[in-house]
Amino acid sequence: MAEISFFIVASTMGVRTRSTICARLGSGRKDMLIGEFVLEAKYKIDKREMWEANKWDRLGSAWWRDLRKIEYEVDGKRGWFKEGVGKIVGEGKETLFWHEVWAGDMPLKEKFNRLFRLSREKDVCIADMGEWRNGELTWNWKWRRSLFTWETDMLQDLLSTVQGTKLKQGEDDCFVWNHDPTGKYSVRSAYNLLNQKQDDRPDHKFKLIWDSKTPLKISAFAWKALQNRIPTKENLLKRGMIEETTGTKCTLCGEKIETASHILFSCPVSWKVWCLCYDWWGIKTASQEDGWNHLRQHVGLISRGRKKQAWSTIWFFTVWSIWLWRNALIFKGETQRIEQVIEHIKVHSFSWIKARLNPDLPQSIWFNNPKEACKIQVQ
Ligand SMILES: [Zn+2]
Repeated sequence: MAEISFFIVASTMGVRTRSTICARLGSGRKDMLIGEFVLEAKYKIDKREMWEANKWDRLGSAWWRDLRKIEYEVDGKRGWFKEGVGKIVGEGKETLFWHEVWAGDMPLKEKFNRLFRLSREKDVCIADMGEWRNGELTWNWKWRRSLFTWETDMLQDLLSTVQGTKLKQGEDDCFVWNHDPTGKYSVRSAYNLLNQKQDDRPDHKFKLIWDSKTPLKISAFAWKALQNRIPTKENLLKRGMIEETTGTKCTLCGEKIETASHILFSCPVSWKVWCLCYDWWGIKTASQEDGWNHLRQHVGLISRGRKKQAWSTIWFFTVWSIWLWRNALIFKGETQRIEQVIEHIKVHSFSWIKARLNPDLPQSIWFNNPKEACKIQVQ
């Protein structure tokens, strides 16, 4: 049984000892992914670079080739292990400030990419980013140049994110396995995770999307959106496809950074679209900021039958319509109203559901009482 303390051992090993890591992990494929995590955390290897770089092949490790193969073979199963591992930060001596997830739910280099690029201390651990004074770590920022006003605002955001994690002088950082109350990783707990927690399983996520009876281009869009792989301003800037001067603020609300989960799920403006959608179906529900939770919650609101099927597709049409709305605002300068977006959802979902799921779907009832409309079936 590999326990979480293994990570600390493994992560203190050098790159050359990958085969040692492999030997310790055994040949199970799931275990191999543990190695991936260790390497990524310790050596700050970007995931893409990790899979693409030929330099790894040249080392000729069969283990490494296998690992790559798994990643390609089962696309839908990526990330289950990494998502299950968390880090409890003590005084931050073993946690990289920008690269690891320790404050908020993503690495600070992703959330505050602008600042990361300006930092002169990219690969420094938390503790070395400041100094301890009276039990508090005081930050000592080192930038390549002075910050512009909007970057200072971003720094304020970063500070409030970081304040959410209490650093403790004199305490070690440690890894915890989120799926066991003791925080210790065991093969059994991973096995249970993969076999019992249906909802959280990556293949279940995969099914949620691909079994959805939605037009392929729309489900493919949703799949990419849930993995933050759509061309939001944040992603375009990361890829260097837009200038910094263009800004990364959300097209709809103009306030937060335009990430996929923001614009589709947590933006106050897109939330109004969702609310109209729920009103249309006579449903009351709370908002969910995480895309997967949003989808799961949505699908779970109607328990069975034709209604459920139609209702599930509405989620996809809504996500899609919000994105089209956003594009129309950017590229055509259109000033569509929210009511038109909901109209778009109603019209397009109607045609699709009528054609594919329920040829008897009555249009006028669909527009006013979709639940009732779904019940109608002329034999
Ligand atoms: Zn917004």
